Parts: sequence; structure tokens; C-alpha cells
Amino acid sequence: MILILKPHINPETAEYRQLESHLARLQNIELRVHQVQGVEQTLTEVYLIGHTSALSIEDMQSLPGVDHVVRVSEEYRILGRHKDDNRSAYFDYQGVRFGQDTLNVFAGLCAVDSRKSVEEMMKALRDNGQVCTRMGAYKPRTSPYSFQGHGKNCLPYVFELAGKYEIKVIAMEITHESHLEEIQEALDKTGNPTGVMLQIGTRNTQNFELLKSVGRQQEFPVLLKRGFGITLDESLNAAEYLASEGNRKVIFGLRGMKTNIGDPHRNIVDFAHVSVVKRLTRMPVCIDPSHSVGSRSRGPEGILDIMHVTAQGVIAGANMILVDFHPEPPKALVDGPQALLLGELPQFLEDVRIARGAYNQRLSNSNRNSPS
Ligand code: PEP
Ligand code: MN
Repeated sequence: MILILKPHINPETAEYRQLESHLARLQNIELRVHQVQGVEQTLTEVYLIGHTSALSIEDMQSLPGVDHVVRVSEEYRILGRHKDDNRSAYFDYQGVRFGQDTLNVFAGLCAVDSRKSVEEMMKALRDNGQVCTRMGAYKPRTSPYSFQGHGKNCLPYVFELAGKYEIKVIAMEITHESHLEEIQEALDKTGNPTGVMLQIGTRNTQNFELLKSVGRQQEFPVLLKRGFGITLDESLNAAEYLASEGNRKVIFGLRGMKTNIGDPHRNIVDFAHVSVVKRLTRMPVCIDPSHSVGSRSRGPEGILDIMHVTAQGVIAGANMILVDFHPEPPKALVDGPQALLLGELPQFLEDVRIARGAYNQRLSNSNRNSPS
């Protein structure tokens, strides 16, 4: 059960202490307090964990400082979508809104290889009106002998160039909690010219200690990729780990599932789950067409499979697209074969705009026809 407190009530106020003394009398109930930072105000939510079935909503609602009460009937207590749950399904970061009704494109390098590639990429993004990108510094690789990413050494120039080209948010995978400090330090040293969205890759979806570390900080939002060989429920529970530690600025990423049944694509595309994740949770949903398809194959009409599946995700209501580009794919150190070319960026963005327009038309059509 969640008690959502009135906007001005927080653990420092007298009313909160009154509430706390009421709650202390409840048997077998543990309390967890969450502060939800919005643009204008910080909301406090108190989670009651344990034997809550005997508690009545009306009794809880009448306690001092309580605005309203949500009975959590499902799993994913914090990120889930519950009955009569009208809590917001968005967050703001660096002036960019991420929600279940917005769409943000994160085109960029799978792996940072050189300052030159980063600069060319970011310049192309700026010239095409983009404020988000992806930049891999820490790469989880199948072989220990493959390029592992430039790590913290590339962070200063990546962040500086982001400032120069007005990039506000960089999605960056981390594979160890120490990377969090390295990113924080590099941002401080460069004067915080940009923001970072921490990415947890599919190989770490159930790395619970990493999830806990990332969940304990609330500075950076998190993109959690679905685990490629586990159930959707298991991956959604992994997202809940982040939220249960305090960070609920979480985006859930679909990136295809590992199976030969998806051949010749690298993974079987799972974008039919966009609406499933939006129904079960309040998380914005990201699609990664690059790691799903894994190649530059195209249909007989000439459209790249990556663009086809992007459109499929967007027309189903996806909220974020993570997509690999590279100025010179043959020279890319990671995933060159699936990178789109900088010259393809305008076509890609236009294709996304067309698919988003079609999604909006589908929404209007549905609203017109839904029984009132
Ligand atoms: C990536 O986005 O670079 C990546 C490694 O993705 P995934 O974790 O989905 O394989
Ligand atoms: Mn990759």
C-alpha cells in the first residue's frame, strides 16, 4: 500500500511525525519512504510493506498529511501501474521530458572510438535538431580480447563536445559501480556541460548489486535493457530493484531476444511488447532497433530492416529510440555492420516522424471509437 502525502508534507514536518506515530502502531508493517522530485515540488510517498490487506483505504486516507492511498495489487510496486493509480508516468531530466507519451531519439556511437567520430556524430545531431545521443565508453564484450571501450579516458572529450554541440543527455552503459563515480568526476571536471542516462545492458539486467548501486543514486536516470534470455516479468522486476532503492527515473529498453528463431536478425524483435510494458508499468519504453536487427540488410523496396523495425516500435507507441550510427562504419571498433551512416540521419528522423504521426492518428481513431 502506498500513502501519497500532501505536497507540503515531508519527513521534516510536524504532520509527518504525527503520521509516523500512527503508522508505528501497525503490526507487521515496514515503512519505506520515497521522495519524488518533480520540477515544481517534491512529493513524499510512504510505502507500507507487509500485512497490509487488513488495512482499510479509508482509515489510511484519514491519517494526518495523507493526500491519497493506492493499494498495490500487482507486482512492480513502485513502477507498476495499479488500480486508481494516477501517479505521473514521466520525469524530466536536463530539460528533456521522458514519459509514456513522449518520444526521444538517442542516435549515436555504439562505442566511442575517437574524438573525431564523437565530434562528427554530435555535429550531425546538432545540425538535425537532436539533443540526445548514445556514447559507449564501457563495452561488455563476448571475447576478452575484443576492444573493451576507452572507459574513463574518453569521458572528458565526450562531455566537452556534448556541451559544444548542445547535447543534453548521453545514454552511456556502465558495467560496474565504479563507473558511476568516474562519470560523476568527469562531469564535475568538465563543468557539467551535459547529462548522462546510465544504461544497464542486457548482460547485466539481473546483476542485482549493480542495480542496487545505480538505484541508490537519484542524480542520473537509468535505461534498463531487457534481459535477452529471461522472461519479461524477470526483467520488470529488475527495473523494480532500481526503484526500490530510490531511483524511479527508469526507462525500460526492448532490444530483441536471443534465439536462432530470429535469424537472420541478430535477435528476435520484441517490439510487440511496447504496449505490454506500458500497460503493466508507468515506465517510458525504449526500443533498440540496432541490437535487435544487427545488420544493414534491407527489404526489396530499399528500406533498411533497422528502419522498418524502428517504425514498428514507434507506431506502437515507443517513447525512446536507441540507435547506432557511425561516420565510418567499416572503421568502427564495435558493431560497425549495424551502424547507420550520418548521411542517413535525416531520412531516419523523417521516417520516425512519419511513424509517430501514424501512431498519433491511431490514438485519435481509438479515442473517437472508444465507448465513453
Ligand atoms: C549497447 O546498447 O551497446 C548494448 C551492448 O546493448 P545490449 O546490452 O542490448 O546488448
Ligand atoms: Mn553494440
